[in-house]
Amino acid sequence: MSLLVLKFGGTSVADLERIRNVAAHVKREVDGGNACAVVVSAMAGQTNQLVALVEEAWGYKVRSQNGAAASAHYDTREYDAVVSSGEQVTSGLLALVLQAAGVQARSWQGWQIPLRTDAAHRAARITGVEVGELKARMLDGEVAVIAGFQGIAPGNRIATLGRGGSDTSAVALAAALQADRCDIYTDVDGVYTTDPRVVPKAHRLDRISYEEMLEMASQGAKVLQTRSVELAMQKGVRVLVRSSFDAPDLAGKGDAETGGGLGTLVCHEDEIVEQNVVSGIAYARDEAKVTLLKVADKPGVAAQVFGPLAEAHINVDMIVQNVSDDGRHTDMTFTVQSADLDRALEVLRNSKDSIGYLDLRGSTDIAKVSAIGVGMRSHAGVAAQMFSALAEKGINIEAISTSEIKISVLIDAAYAELAVRTLHSLFGLDR
Ligand code: ASP
Ligand code: MG
Repeated sequence: MSLLVLKFGGTSVADLERIRNVAAHVKREVDGGNACAVVVSAMAGQTNQLVALVEEAWGYKVRSQNGAAASAHYDTREYDAVVSSGEQVTSGLLALVLQAAGVQARSWQGWQIPLRTDAAHRAARITGVEVGELKARMLDGEVAVIAGFQGIAPGNRIATLGRGGSDTSAVALAAALQADRCDIYTDVDGVYTTDPRVVPKAHRLDRISYEEMLEMASQGAKVLQTRSVELAMQKGVRVLVRSSFDAPDLAGKGDAETGGGLGTLVCHEDEIVEQNVVSGIAYARDEAKVTLLKVADKPGVAAQVFGPLAEAHINVDMIVQNVSDDGRHTDMTFTVQSADLDRALEVLRNSKDSIGYLDLRGSTDIAKVSAIGVGMRSHAGVAAQMFSALAEKGINIEAISTSEIKISVLIDAAYAELAVRTLHSLFGLDR
C-alpha cells in the first residue's frame, strides 16, 4: 500500500462529467490498495469570476475606468473569503461523486484539517499542516477530498495561497503526510522541453530535477506554481505531473516510486541518468522594460534608483548598466513585471530629482527567453553558443541574466517564437 496525494486542476474538474472522470482516477488508486488524499482546484474559470466579483463589489475597476484614483486596497481577508469558495464547491461535489461510486470519502476545508498559514492574505504561506485525524481516516480507507488553495490564518480567517496555489496545498500535504508521491493531474501529460504550441517538435521529459523545474516555473512555464516546486525541493516530495485526460483505466496502476513512466517525475537530479546540458527553453511575455537615460555615473546612483522601487514592493529582475564613454553619464535598463510598470514609472518620476536622469522610458514589447539545464554547471560555452545562434537570426539581445543553471535574454517580443525555436534546435531538444 502507498500513501498518495492526487491533485486535480481547474480543467480537470470543469464540470460534473470531468469530476466523474476524476473519481474514476481516484477509484483506480483506491482499488489498487492505496490510501488517497485528493486536492482539488475550483472549476475552470471560477476563481477568475470570483475575483471579478470582488473587484466589482469594491468598485476597483469602475473607478480606474473613470480615471479617478484606482485603489486595489480592498480588505484582502474578504477577498479570501470570496475566492476560496470555488474549492469548497468542488471538494463537496467530488466527495459526493465518489460516494455515489461506492468509494468512502469526505470533504475537508483548509480550516478543518487545519492547514495553517501566515497572515499575508491573498498570497499566504503555509506555516504548518496538522494531519493527525486526516491521516488516521485515510489509513482507515476513507478518501480525503481537500479544498486546495486555502488555509486558516491567525485570527481564524480563511486565507488563500496565491493564484495557482492548490499545487502548493498538494505538496504541503504530501510532505506532512509523508506520502510516497504527489500526483499533479492537469490538462497536459507532463513537462515539455518548451511550449508545444510554439515548437511542435517539443517533447515530454520523463524526469526533471527540482532546480530545473523551479527555473522553468519561475521563467514562465505555467504547469506548476513556483512555490510548490520550492516546497517539493525543500521537503524532498516526489511530484509526478500527468494528465487527467488519459483514460483512467488505461492510465496504469503505476508503481509508487515513479508512477510507472506516465507523465514527468520532478525529482532529485541524482535520479536522472541521462542529463542534457540544456533540458528546456522557457519564455515569458509578462515583463516590461524600463530605461533611464543619462543617469549620473557616480557611486550611490543604483541605490537611489532601486531603493524607492523596493520600498514600493516592486520586484526588479534583469538589470543592465552601460559603461559611460564620457565617464559622467550612463543609461540603465531593467525589467519589472508588466503589472507593475505604471507604478514603477510613477515611483521613478517622483524620485527624478534625487536620481537625476534625462529621460525615462517604459515598454512592454519585450520577451524573456531562457535556456535551463543543470548540465550547464559542468559545461563551458553554453552562453556563447546561445548568443551566436540568436545573432545569426538577427535577434538583438537587450539584456542578459544568468544563474548557475540558466541563461536568460531579453529580446523584442516579435522575435520570441523564433528565438525559442532556434534555441530548442540548437540544444538538441527537437524530437
Ligand atoms: N483556483 C485557484 C486559482 O485559479 C487555485 C488553483 O487553481 O490552483 O488560482
Ligand atoms: Mg494551476
